[in-house]
Amino acid sequence: MATGNAIRGTRVGSGPMGESERGESAARTVVSFWCSNGHETRPSFAVDADIPSSWDCPRCGLPANTDEKNPPPAKRTEPYKTHLAYVKERRSDSDGEALLDEALAKLRARRGES
Ligand SMILES: [Zn+2]
Repeated sequence: MATGNAIRGTRVGSGPMGESERGESAARTVVSFWCSNGHETRPSFAVDADIPSSWDCPRCGLPANTDEKNPPPAKRTEPYKTHLAYVKERRSDSDGEALLDEALAKLRARRGES
């Protein structure tokens, strides 16, 4: 009889709190995810959707999973360190002085020209 399943709830990305289960449109299930900072995120999914095993915490960006007592380790803090190290590497003292000299030289050159 019903050959097409065209009428399915395809609304995705609604707010976690805004919609309560009213049972009108597609049934949804709310899943709690926890990140290693203890943030709880509760996205809702269509009942027939696959619940992902991990979820990015919208507050701190760390990976979160559904196991409150055993959240995934915070691997993603590394970019902070590596970025800082990167900046430090690039700006060693001698480099900084060289850049400063260069800038001063340009300034002097400009002043001399005008
Ligand atoms: Zn978090």
